[in-house]
Amino acid sequence: MSEPTPPYPRTGWIEVIVGSMYSGKTEELIRRLRRAQIARQKVEIFKPRMDDRYARDHIVSHSDQRIPSRAVKSARDVLRHAHEAQVIGIDEGQFLGPGLVAVCQALAGRGKRVIVAGLDQDYLGRPFEPMPELLAIAEYITKTLAICVVCGAPANRTYRKVKRGGRVVVGGADLYEARCRRCFELGPRAARVVAAEAAAGRAAVRPRSRSSR
Ligand SMILES: [Zn+2]
Repeated sequence: MSEPTPPYPRTGWIEVIVGSMYSGKTEELIRRLRRAQIARQKVEIFKPRMDDRYARDHIVSHSDQRIPSRAVKSARDVLRHAHEAQVIGIDEGQFLGPGLVAVCQALAGRGKRVIVAGLDQDYLGRPFEPMPELLAIAEYITKTLAICVVCGAPANRTYRKVKRGGRVVVGGADLYEARCRRCFELGPRAARVVAAEAAAGRAAVRPRSRSSR
């Protein structure tokens, strides 16, 4: 790793923003990066090249906020283009592979503020590497919650609506929806079960309402 040490002596750190799809991760990432840009800090923003659902050269949230970004093939490429930056934003970190952890450590070690957003779980509810490792080493963690489309409870799972194999199938609302723990486990039966419960006059078991971010 040969990039020059930045000329400012302050310490760096890592911030991680994780949650399911439709939980506002990218919105939160964009919000933080905008604040840094307003303060005239040097900001570099990256996303994996494979995720070009909305735009190749922008990070775009589901609410259509956008900010220019550089598409990279690997975590290594982030290192290559980040040496001038004070603040580094990375979206969809789960697609950049295990090398992302060392890259974030190296950047924070050079005094940079590193902000990574990504899915903490895959479509089967399993921890989605390398986000778990990043959560362990980060100074700041934000977990964003969506709302379960079936029952309205806070949702932290991403449910894949179609039977299509593979951990990585890039898609939007046609393929994925946010679900709570229970509706995720109920799978394709969730809508029927929740509707039947409502019809029977029994309130479905819901967690106490929580203010969402
Ligand atoms: Zn639910």
